[in-house]
Amino acid sequence: MPVRKKQDQVCRQCHRVLDGDKEACIICGDANLSTDWQGYVVIIDPKHSEIAEKMNIDLPGRYALKVR
Ligand SMILES: [Zn+2]
Repeated sequence: MPVRKKQDQVCRQCHRVLDGDKEACIICGDANLSTDWQGYVVIIDPKHSEIAEKMNIDLPGRYALKVR
């Protein structure tokens, strides 16, 4: 595992995984971010992904499954 200076954060609204230095979500603009999250899913093709459909994701990227 690579060592990171800052832990990745997750947007509580859309579950997008963000770099630790972000202050708001790059997708929905929400500033309600969490570093307490679990699970990790990479959505490559949201239109053909069951997980993306369940999570209401329409953009490719990295997402967390659980956010506290
Ligand atoms: Zn978001």
